[in-house]
Amino acid sequence: GQAIDRYRHARPASERIFNDATLVLPGGNTRSVLFFAPFPPAMVRGEGCWLWDADGHRYLDALGEFTAGLYGHSEPAIRAAIAEALEDGLSLSSHTAREGALAREVQRRFPAMELLRFTNSGTEANLMALASACAHTGRRKVLVFKGGYHGGVLAFAGGGSPVNVPHEWIVARYNDLADVLQRVAPHRGELAAILVEPMLGSGGCIPGEVDFLHGLRMLADECGALLVFDEVMTSRLSFGGRQALLGIRPDMTTLGKYFGGGLSFGAFGGGADVMQRYDPRHSGALQHAGTFNNNVLTMAAGLAGLTQVLTAEALDALNARGEALRARLNALLAERGVAMQFTGLGSLMQMQSLAGPLRSADDLAAGDDRARALVFFELLARGVFMARRGFMALSLPFDEAACDRFAQALEEVVSAQQA
Ligand code: PLP
Repeated sequence: GQAIDRYRHARPASERIFNDATLVLPGGNTRSVLFFAPFPPAMVRGEGCWLWDADGHRYLDALGEFTAGLYGHSEPAIRAAIAEALEDGLSLSSHTAREGALAREVQRRFPAMELLRFTNSGTEANLMALASACAHTGRRKVLVFKGGYHGGVLAFAGGGSPVNVPHEWIVARYNDLADVLQRVAPHRGELAAILVEPMLGSGGCIPGEVDFLHGLRMLADECGALLVFDEVMTSRLSFGGRQALLGIRPDMTTLGKYFGGGLSFGAFGGGADVMQRYDPRHSGALQHAGTFNNNVLTMAAGLAGLTQVLTAEALDALNARGEALRARLNALLAERGVAMQFTGLGSLMQMQSLAGPLRSADDLAAGDDRARALVFFELLARGVFMARRGFMALSLPFDEAACDRFAQALEEVVSAQQA
């Protein structure tokens, strides 16, 4: 209560912007995930790993645009590439050299994507991957996991959503092969795809266990279904994503977020046998159009990011910083006897309001969201920004000093609550 009152009183401009927007936008914006009561801060500027709101507060940005902000705000090489592309015009009604160059850079990182195509979002990439799997197999059923998130119309928190696309879903427990086998058994010959995040992202940064993910690979082979890895979030965990770390070759992979250099992006791809179907030189080719699939600015920004900024070393160092920060935060919480923890892998993490092992979305049900809300608002008051649900994605400029600052802020919050 008090923390929220202080939050509100310190942000009259954000409140006004929110109230004005609600007259035409239900909930004040068009991304459900951004809303929290009483209203989210309206950000006006970003630089490096810092954000400023309309009320003049500065925040350490630990959210990193839900992983799309990997490069940080206003990365100079990306800005320059956008400015250069802008000089030559935006909408060229044509393919361009940058499109092929960006695709080659993606393919070099994800060799299982023998052929790929671009979309405007991770959601679309997943929709296209499922459409591809259904077309390729001539089947309709899709295995997904409770707590999985693959886009606004492909969301399985609580088991599903009324606005989901009407596929024939089979929803199983994450990290539970016995549950998977039991649910799939009556439908083995009808399974088109297994769509899985190698780590539940939105569903709580719960890593897929190695045996579980290998088990899905085997199941897909046995059933003749396509294994689709949604690496929209986990692609940043190594140069070749989590599939490289696990040594698993999925039939299809979907990407999004930072690959567009901070602009709208998605990609789906996989084995040539599946993806050749989109080649219009073949008779009966599948259609996949989209005015902005190859938009000039995304192609330029994505290419600059991958070729000029995101070396394998920079990525590994960032993930190591994330590992170290998570260990430090968890040590602090354990030492103080606070029933919270940070889960995740590398630079991706989630503040959980319960201690103990977490293996699937169901395990989160016992968490106390009031405890998490309190920490969230107290961190905001100390100039630290994360998602209201506790999600964090570190950016390249989020350096050791930023990690120190974050850890200090959390320590202050814990100390104040225990005083
Ligand atoms: N897949 C995963 C794992 C995601 O985390 C997200 C977005 O958060 C998406 C897909 C959807 O991507 P987009 O928001 O670009 O549509």
